[in-house]
Amino acid sequence: VRRGDPLVVMENVQKHYGDFQALTDIDLTVNRGEVVVVIGPSGSGKSTLCRTINRLETITSGSISIDGVEIPAEGKALAALRADVGMVFQAFNLFSHLTILENVTLGPLKVKKMRKADAEAEAKVLLDRVGVGHQAAKLPAQLSGGQQQRVAIARALAMKPKVMLFDEPTSALDPEMINEVLDVMVSLAQDGMTMIVVTHEMGFARKAADRVVFMADGQIVEEATPDEFFTNPKSDRAKDFLSKLI
Ligand code: ADP
Ligand code: MG
Repeated sequence: VRRGDPLVVMENVQKHYGDFQALTDIDLTVNRGEVVVVIGPSGSGKSTLCRTINRLETITSGSISIDGVEIPAEGKALAALRADVGMVFQAFNLFSHLTILENVTLGPLKVKKMRKADAEAEAKVLLDRVGVGHQAAKLPAQLSGGQQQRVAIARALAMKPKVMLFDEPTSALDPEMINEVLDVMVSLAQDGMTMIVVTHEMGFARKAADRVVFMADGQIVEEATPDEFFTNPKSDRAKDFLSKLI
């Protein structure tokens, strides 16, 4: 387990959707450089957890801080927070009318007010890094799902985030494209990026995770190293979940 100071700190977080409690008593600290894989059954609150961290969802009570700053409700501070948190979703969410290069430079130009030449130079480095540099002038629809998802990763990285959140980044992909996306994520992890990854890819969890967080019914049921979790899960919920995986 790599060590670093706390980067994302969730304390006693509760999240209600109306009467329904989607997150209960969430205490989670993710340290700088750490890779935390969040797993659990459908509906257990994994996406909600991610969405509260970059404030796509408000929390009902508790607190979430990133790099020592509590997540603000609105305004400039919220925009700065969003820039600190890169997010990659299941659906690639690229702008269909913009080229690959434009998709990646949009945030740096609009939010970071970077010079166009600088933004493009950095974007090209990132697109090369994820293996789609030769596709920069194309539109998203001209790329495969795996390529589009790698562009989505490059787009998030272009904002120079402190932490990257991945919410089932390979679930919408054809099987042969899953590994090319996971390989990029493993390389990011090896470079020391702080990552929170919701995934059903247990191979990735074993290989890249410093810690596995298992959720059920909106709660963190257990946390362990991948080795501990996969060989000796403590809770019945986790045992049951693991026994149903292929
Ligand atoms: P997971 O990602 O683990 O599948 P989610 O975080 O998407 O779980 O959802 C957790 C629970 O919260 C589910 O029961 C879901 O139906 C509910 N939920 C999620 N989003 C909303 C919403 N916007 N309004 C009401 N209920 C929601
Ligand atoms: Mg989800």
